[in-house]
Amino acid sequence: MKYILESYGCQLNMAEANALEILLKGAGMEKTEDANDADAVIINTCSVRKSAENRIWGRLSFYHHIKKAVRPVTIVVTGCMAERMKDELIKEAPFVDAVIGTNEKMEIVSFLQGNALEKEDRYQFVSSYHKDGEFSSYVPIMNGCNNFCSYCIVPYVRGREVSRPVDEVIREIEMLDTLGVKEITLLGQNVNSYNYNGMTFPGLLDEICLHLKNIRFVRFDSPHPKDFSDELIEVIASQEKVCSHIHLPMQSGNSRILQLMNRKTTREAFFALADKMRKGISGLTFSTDVMVGFPTETEEEYNDTLTAMDYLSPLEAFMYYYNLREGTPAAKMEGQIDEEVKTARLERLIDEQLRRCAEMKQKRIGLVSQALVLGPTRNDKEAFLARNEHNEMMSFHPSSASVRPGDIVNLKTTELKGNTYLAVEA
Ligand code: SF4
Repeated sequence: MKYILESYGCQLNMAEANALEILLKGAGMEKTEDANDADAVIINTCSVRKSAENRIWGRLSFYHHIKKAVRPVTIVVTGCMAERMKDELIKEAPFVDAVIGTNEKMEIVSFLQGNALEKEDRYQFVSSYHKDGEFSSYVPIMNGCNNFCSYCIVPYVRGREVSRPVDEVIREIEMLDTLGVKEITLLGQNVNSYNYNGMTFPGLLDEICLHLKNIRFVRFDSPHPKDFSDELIEVIASQEKVCSHIHLPMQSGNSRILQLMNRKTTREAFFALADKMRKGISGLTFSTDVMVGFPTETEEEYNDTLTAMDYLSPLEAFMYYYNLREGTPAAKMEGQIDEEVKTARLERLIDEQLRRCAEMKQKRIGLVSQALVLGPTRNDKEAFLARNEHNEMMSFHPSSASVRPGDIVNLKTTELKGNTYLAVEA
């Protein structure tokens, strides 16, 4: 059987797609990119924005045409859209053979082998999410979210938090370590609220570090500011392999909007946390998520977000404007902001971040850091691209032929070209 697997959305969806590939290949199925040649198509969907769902409807029309005109391909829809719109998918797209929820995602293999699907009442972790041959790997450690931010669909489509057993996490990481993986990212929608039988996230991070031999970089995504404990700051500060580049989602810099968003933090508390982290973790840099145009956001409140971005000064930011998600409390709020206003606010936010980021990057020229060699650059095959713990991309000419993708090298940045540094081995 030949299959196509299309995956959209977040890192966890990508990790789950990797896990599914392992299972599909293990069952003797073969991957193809050619829709005319596929026996099965699996679409691993995302529901975070309307645009993501619209794209899936487009892909479904395409495969409907293949099914009618070319071959009787089996079409499976899974992921968050399958959770959110199961009835609508069955009604509007009757040519889809199965709509499979997140808890049952790994049973797709069994379904394609002709077996009946069994409903799972809990999220199922599997033994590996690793993509063959890669030096970086995602390691899901928890799924779901209990926070119910008022704009977010995740708690409705991924359910409540479930943490992966500690021994399973360690087993996968030890296996990755022997495979030559150099960088792992621990994943969860609310990663720092991990709790398995009393083992909390700081304890898990410490435990993981005890088992690392070759893995150099440990990252995690996404933490919630309200769960960022002093203990976690201490562990990051004391464990050299845990990257001192932290993704700290801000969403808004205004306390009233944060409250409406149900973020359970305030501007002041967020600033105090950022200060504490900067003080505790040497060389710390931030990335963040930030949203403008939340219902009822005034110009003044938007300006608070601009000044908060200045305060945080993230090296990277995922910036977007509020998108109404049916089924969330924010969708029913009065005072939805006009598209034009939201667009203008976002454009200014992006302009300011790009300017700030360019200035910060200029100041970081001359720093020496360890970096993971990713492979040859696109324009110069003699040069390699590498990424350091702050997610900064660097291009360098290796000093010897023994330098290979997957190596960890010491690099000194010498110049900034666009978003990439030129660097030399140090
Ligand atoms: S913490 Fe908030 S934004 Fe993040 S997944 Fe949970 S509900 Fe969504």
